[in-house]
Amino acid sequence: MKVTVIGAGYVGLTGGAVLADHGHTVWVVRRDREKIENLKKGIIPIYEPGLPAVVRRNVKTGRLIPTTAYAEGVPQSEVVFIAVGTPQNEKDGAADLTQVFAAAREVAKHLREGFTVVVDKSTVPPGTAERVEKIINKYKRGPRVKFAVVSSPEFLREGKALEDTVHPDRIVIGSASPPATKIMVALHKKFKCPLVVTSVRSAEVIKYAANAYLSLRIGFIDQIANLCEKMGADVMDVIGGIGLDRRIGTHYWFPGMGYGGYCFPKDVKALAALFVKVGEKDNLFIKLDRLNEARVARYVTRLRKALGSLRGKRIGVLGLAAKPGTDDIRGSVALHFVKALKKLGAKIKVYDPLAQENARLVLQKTVTYCRNPYQVIKGTAALVVMVEDEEFKKLKMEKVKKLMKKPLIFDVKNIYNLARLRRFGFTVHATGR
Ligand code: NAD
Repeated sequence: MKVTVIGAGYVGLTGGAVLADHGHTVWVVRRDREKIENLKKGIIPIYEPGLPAVVRRNVKTGRLIPTTAYAEGVPQSEVVFIAVGTPQNEKDGAADLTQVFAAAREVAKHLREGFTVVVDKSTVPPGTAERVEKIINKYKRGPRVKFAVVSSPEFLREGKALEDTVHPDRIVIGSASPPATKIMVALHKKFKCPLVVTSVRSAEVIKYAANAYLSLRIGFIDQIANLCEKMGADVMDVIGGIGLDRRIGTHYWFPGMGYGGYCFPKDVKALAALFVKVGEKDNLFIKLDRLNEARVARYVTRLRKALGSLRGKRIGVLGLAAKPGTDDIRGSVALHFVKALKKLGAKIKVYDPLAQENARLVLQKTVTYCRNPYQVIKGTAALVVMVEDEEFKKLKMEKVKKLMKKPLIFDVKNIYNLARLRRFGFTVHATGR
């Protein structure tokens, strides 16, 4: 099939490249000429293991066509995906749909006569497909241009975008149009996962429900961690104990400084705003968001208790992205944390194996950037290990102790053996233990 993807980021580029790998011809559109020229050479603007090779081989065969022009692919395509950003609106946290609507307008102007499926791939609140449909009806070039708007949300994880796109758990197709459903099913025929065909509204809700539930698991275990800290229990033992209940499971428990990253915080906020909009003022997601936002302040307070005033104190922070294995710093909790420490006058040294350059664009000259963890550690009064990175797990603790001014570690993600660190003479503040 011929397909166009609007927005060549984590979702659009990965999805487009995998569809090209399945034999479809795919145009990926983004506005930024330099990034498109790079894509043509197989240089991708994000860090995603395995993706450059897939992009390169499909660009070479001409099945993946990076372009800045809607006019190139849209008029030839049977399916057009909209995979642009949906950040949070600064006013009330609702999803900002400016990019989606702008893309819909441009798509409308280039749709061919005949039938095209327009797919909302971006995470958008229920009701958005109808709004996209209205925009396309307003801007399309005449009555012979026919289309249907389908919702097919994306569930990939950053850092594992290719793996998740090649082997998704499911593909959701929300459609009110039988011909559109047929085209979508045919387009995805090489995927081995279940295709979940629903109404458009249900598909839109599925995406928010999935992200809100995953956020809730993190928010839930953070609360239990608070209790463990107060009662002298160990949250990791609690996870082991509850996880063996098959209704609960041992997977996906991450007590720490709260959920972060590009999607969870903004999607929970958007869901909370949507609940309020539809008259459900008293809802779980407002509380979840508030509790999550309070996590950073909690650790700042713990650090102040451990060190006294933070003014002039040298603090090392390892890990700046939301999680290991990505260079994306959007929604990074570590950056909020560093900014909060800076406000209190601390001197911060940082290191992240992948996200350092992106973090530099935000933190600029307010912190010292180091080339490895030991450079960060040298001379610090406290070391905060933010994420469960393999490099951080393997630190040589004798060396760490020698380099630090005071052997004080904040093990935010509980990656170290507490008893062992304490035997080495470290004071350790972990999460929920
Ligand atoms: P991204 O910022 O990496 O990519 C979006 C791209 O769209 C950018 O390259 C931007 O330049 C481009 N763009 C914006 N407006 C455009 C326009 N009018 N025409 C052409 N290009 C345009 O974003 P992403 O992480 O890929 O997320 C895209 C959507 O998918 C969001 O709604 C997000 O919530 C959702 N999502 C993201 C992830 C994730 O892990 N990143 C996972 C699932 C769903």
